[in-house]
Amino acid sequence: MLDRRNFYINGKWVKPFKKNDFPVINPSNEEAFATISLGSKEDTDAAIKAAKNSFNSWKETSKAERIKLLEKLLENYKKRFDEMAEAMSLEMGSPIDYAISTHAASGQSHIEDFIIRLKEYKFEEHFDDKSNNYIAHEPIGVCGLITPWNWPINQIALKVIPALATGCTMILKPSEISPISGMLFAEMIDQAGFPPGIFNLVNGDGNGVGTQMSSHPDIDMISFTGSTRAGKLITKNAADTIKRVCLELGGKGGNIVFSDSYPNAVRDGIRNVMSNSGQSCDAPTRMLVEETIYERAVKEAVDEARKIKVDIASKKGDHIGPVVSKVQYDKIIKLIKDGIKEGATLAAGGPELPEGLNKGYFIKPTIFTHVTNNMQIAKKEIFGPVLSIIPFKTEDEAVKITNDTEYGLGNYLQTEDKEKAKRVAKKLRSGVVYINGNGADSGTPFGGYRQSGNGREGGTWGLEEYLEVKTITGWK
Ligand code: NAD
Repeated sequence: MLDRRNFYINGKWVKPFKKNDFPVINPSNEEAFATISLGSKEDTDAAIKAAKNSFNSWKETSKAERIKLLEKLLENYKKRFDEMAEAMSLEMGSPIDYAISTHAASGQSHIEDFIIRLKEYKFEEHFDDKSNNYIAHEPIGVCGLITPWNWPINQIALKVIPALATGCTMILKPSEISPISGMLFAEMIDQAGFPPGIFNLVNGDGNGVGTQMSSHPDIDMISFTGSTRAGKLITKNAADTIKRVCLELGGKGGNIVFSDSYPNAVRDGIRNVMSNSGQSCDAPTRMLVEETIYERAVKEAVDEARKIKVDIASKKGDHIGPVVSKVQYDKIIKLIKDGIKEGATLAAGGPELPEGLNKGYFIKPTIFTHVTNNMQIAKKEIFGPVLSIIPFKTEDEAVKITNDTEYGLGNYLQTEDKEKAKRVAKKLRSGVVYINGNGADSGTPFGGYRQSGNGREGGTWGLEEYLEVKTITGWK
């Protein structure tokens, strides 16, 4: 059993103020493999005080000094890359090969990309050639960073690196469900030689440390990734102190498959939604299929879903793992049963455990067909390996159904008609539109419309979330 009960505050690993042990469960076998502490107000206050005290000196550091430290952090990350992958495989059930190729790799690629953006970024500039005004981009101050369990290091790197890069100081509260990767990252930051107090880590839950952070008068900004439910609570808690609140929330992505889509479009859509056991905010969980190819698409979808193996996370090879926790497992199984009750056709998977697995939070890749967009399974973010297939007749109808959701994070579309693709992409109300399986490049902005949030992470946009803008007159 790993003992990870200390917090990282003011450059040291320190004991929590009060004992409040919390087990970290391996979702592949339902057994605890580590103990952390849930912090109390005293721990949160100590971390915020350290971040506040170090802000004045850290904000004065040069870009070159910060780049040097980030490069050292990158070096440390590469050295301990395999440990990072193993931590996530244990804490959130990612199959080890996927944890290496995708989860751990995302952390590294964010550090690399932010170093490039920081090198390019102009923190100060003249307003224009004729004006005597000057524009300065300055770090916002002390940041509270709250992250979820589903893409642990991806989300942490998307917040911690730009905050460090811009000269902010911070308190990270990783998800209490998957805290080990964040603690390993804290060790890498420590070993890189960042001055004490710049980066602090306190574990805790939403009602405790999360709420203490969002309402704290000495925190200037909260960057939150997680559920829309928690995003609303954080926004309300933050209101009295008028802090900046950047939100990256849930989604219910549509994937429009037109009749002229490339041959493997349906199968790729299935692989995409089921990867990470369906636990991605931008997963294409509603597949909209043009009526003329509906029956063929359903056959391909079911065939592909049945090919996907489900197994324990430590096993190598191409398969999906368990979902993260008992709470998530129960929620997903209930939604699958609701879908059956609502009258959708269960075409693959279902609520029973996959064959050969009788321990762990495993769910079969599940497909519902003949779904209408007003059913709960088409509206709610299920956050498991569950897909709804919805037929459509016309381009306008496809756009209407896709946009008929309270979310707006990632949408997808498949067609070989380039003009149609561009036309439809512009009509979709979401922060990202993926055409024909093309991925987003490193450094492009990621974020949502509507109840999927208000922030943009990644690249220059990600740096600017942590900056204030100042106009100075009479500069020349
Ligand atoms: P969650 O909202 O339950 O928890 C996320 C984090 O917020 C955790 O650290 C948790 O302790 C904390 N938290 C919970 N309630 C809080 C409160 N009232 N005040 C302050 N902090 C609080 O979400 P989760 O179950 O960990 O993650 C899954 C959710 O995250 C999904 O909805 C998913 O779509 C979303 N997500 C969004 C993105 C994105 O970029 N848009 C990326 C990944 C995940």
